[in-house]
Amino acid sequence: IDEVCFLSLYSFTQKYPPVKFLSEKDRKRILITGGAGFVGSHLTDKLMMDGHEVTVVDNFFTGRKRNVEHWIGHENFELINHDVVEPLYIEVDQIYHLASPASPPNYMYNPIKTLKTNTIGTLNMLGLAKRVGARLLLASTSEVYGDPEVHPQNEDYWGHVNPIGPRACYDEGKRVAETMCYAYMKQEGVEVRVARIFNTFGSRMHMNDGRVVSNFILQALQGEPLTVFLFLPSDLVNGLVSLMNNNISSPVNLGNPEEHTILEFAQLIKSLVVSRSHIQFLPEAQDDPQRRRPDIRKAKMLLGWEPVVPLEEGLNKTIQYFSRELEHQANNQYI
Ligand code: NAD
Ligand code: UDP
Repeated sequence: IDEVCFLSLYSFTQKYPPVKFLSEKDRKRILITGGAGFVGSHLTDKLMMDGHEVTVVDNFFTGRKRNVEHWIGHENFELINHDVVEPLYIEVDQIYHLASPASPPNYMYNPIKTLKTNTIGTLNMLGLAKRVGARLLLASTSEVYGDPEVHPQNEDYWGHVNPIGPRACYDEGKRVAETMCYAYMKQEGVEVRVARIFNTFGSRMHMNDGRVVSNFILQALQGEPLTVFLFLPSDLVNGLVSLMNNNISSPVNLGNPEEHTILEFAQLIKSLVVSRSHIQFLPEAQDDPQRRRPDIRKAKMLLGWEPVVPLEEGLNKTIQYFSRELEHQANNQYI
């Protein structure tokens, strides 16, 4: 039984998924920016079920109310429609700052907005963290390594990013966001955590998000010999919460070091979906990283964290989620 079935089952039997009781001293007021998105909504589930008070702030650019609707009305939950490019005045103890388009088609759709979200949006959240004395965790990305010249990448690698290429709005936006975190830490004493997240997939990920898994599952085509490293929201969410509550302020890679070529991946998805699709080879996109793999020794050693969900299990769950979404779309077309 996967988490989507689990949550929808709950909506039939009782009003909300089960929430642990936390005493007032252990209960935190937590802000999740981008909390209606793919990763943010899984993080919302974990923190709500752990018994915290969660405020989700989202402008619904790529996120959806549906991803968090099972919490609407719960006394520990609040959903605010707000753009982080505008200042935000609330009182919280921790901030998970995830608001940002995450996949190339989404972040390239409006590069200026992507830059504003990652720069002004991050500045606003750091300003908020400073004012209320909250700890802020930035959801950074493996894209800060660009098209890397070293393999695998550890946190000391400075990256190889084209500052004026089509991906720069995101890559450089996140690099500045990291820079701002450490400026606020040094100058203002703000407690920061920086997670460099590698490609993650799973339920609630946008079907036309343009990333490798969603493309392949939707009988997509692709196939240059890039390599990808994928892992699942439950692994990622555990890594983010563990990093937030640890004392490591320097960047930490969170990803799956198991390496697959894109072609292997296409073949695996094709066989799991039992699809008749052909694999088609297209010219590569500009500045697309050729190869990436996280060195996760730091996360393992300092957080005791590593991904545990097997790839096929994760793919099967995602395929089920996408099939249900396609069915849902088809049914709604005729209403
Ligand atoms: P997503 O698109 O599903 O979620 C991003 C959320 O941010 C959406 O709900 C969107 O509506 C919201 N948002 C965007 N701009 C906003 C703004 N200006 N104000 C308020 N809300 C805004 O993407 P995701 O995969 O869940 O990614 C979450 C975070 O993790 C992002 O910061 C992304 O850069 C980072 N990350 C994700 C991956 C991955 O593989 N999923 C990898 C590396 C980094
Ligand atoms: N900010 C915010 N919420 C707060 C405090 C600040 O959104 O609770 C914004 C504020 O509007 C400013 C940014 O965060 O644009 C940076 O704030 P900071 O106090 O660091 O800088 P200053 O306002 O002194 O320039």
